[in-house]
Amino acid sequence: MPSKAKTNRNPQLTSVVTGAAGFLGSHLTDLLLARGHKVIGLDNFITGSVDNIAHLGGNRNFKFIEQDVTEFIFLDCPVDYVWHFASPASPIDYLNVPIQTLKVGSLGTHKALGLAKIKSARFLIASTSEIYGDPLVHPQTEDYWGNVNTIGPRGCYDEAKRFAEALTMAYHREHQVATRIVRIFNTYGPRMRLNDGRVVPAFVSQALTNKPITVFGKGTQTRSFCYVSDLIEGIYRLMMSDYDLPVNIGNPKEITMLQFAEAIIQATGSRSKIVFKPLPQDDPKQRKPDITLARKLLKWEPKVPLADGLVKAIAYFCNKV
Ligand code: NAD
Ligand code: UDP
Repeated sequence: MPSKAKTNRNPQLTSVVTGAAGFLGSHLTDLLLARGHKVIGLDNFITGSVDNIAHLGGNRNFKFIEQDVTEFIFLDCPVDYVWHFASPASPIDYLNVPIQTLKVGSLGTHKALGLAKIKSARFLIASTSEIYGDPLVHPQTEDYWGNVNTIGPRGCYDEAKRFAEALTMAYHREHQVATRIVRIFNTYGPRMRLNDGRVVPAFVSQALTNKPITVFGKGTQTRSFCYVSDLIEGIYRLMMSDYDLPVNIGNPKEITMLQFAEAIIQATGSRSKIVFKPLPQDDPKQRKPDITLARKLLKWEPKVPLADGLVKAIAYFCNKV
């Protein structure tokens, strides 16, 4: 239940989702609607798309407001949950709009926390494995403080999210807002933008068009990919739990980018060849979540194997290339 007892309230729960027109925000919105919430989605479309929420047109439990959430958020209705997902999330996106990325992580988080405080709502921040930077601890546990280059090209995103976590804890400690922090590891699935530069849409679109697959560096860097439905279920459970410290949610199955390129070629039956391109600055060398805490606390673990998730993602991208 939300942080403070409420009286004379409509029994239907109301969730506010910032970044609702994005990849994760739209899937979260679908899950909340399926679980009986009213959802108010906020987005300014800086990296999102109306296509991701078009299927909700006419749904009387969904209301969309086009808004930049770095500006004051005014809602004239009760709110039970605030899910703050607004932020550019792909390295290419946040390199294009570094100031907007810093603003939504700082000012946007401030406004979303202010909304949660005034409504006595529970708040969840979509944080990230990037707060661990190029990690010196592997796999990453929640008690690891990270290794971030503040002034590097990824600093705008990493430091915005680190600030967002700090502000969230400050609202929790000073104003007793019920807060949750999820550290999301690489997630993929339908509704990712084909050209957002992240490795899953990049490799799949290259494979589907038989173009060279661009592996950065030697391809020895690792990631661990979580299918979107698994991630959203984990995040929902975290919001409904009573745990207010950070929790990693992701799939611990680790793979090198070279292996991943080969897997995509195989899964698509592509004639693409692999080409090697320079490794971007500060690209984390290895990433894999330790999900011991999520397993214990939320009775959660990912269910969708990479091969199955890729079939669904590829089917989606097939219609987009
Ligand atoms: P996305 O780019 O698809 O979605 C982000 C949404 O936020 C977009 O619709 C965008 O238009 C909106 N937005 C950005 N700034 C805004 C602003 N100032 N006001 C209103 N709306 C704004 O990205 P995503 O992959 O869906 O990521 C969602 C959240 O999850 C982000 O906070 C991201 O940092 C976090 N996250 C995602 C991943 C992942 O693998 N997808 C991993 C770690 C963390
Ligand atoms: N990557 C790659 N080729 C591409 C895009 C990405 O080899 O065309 C690599 C990138 O260098 C990184 C990994 O894939 O090591 C994941 O990149 P992504 O942008 O998806 O997210 P990150 O985990 O780095 O935030």
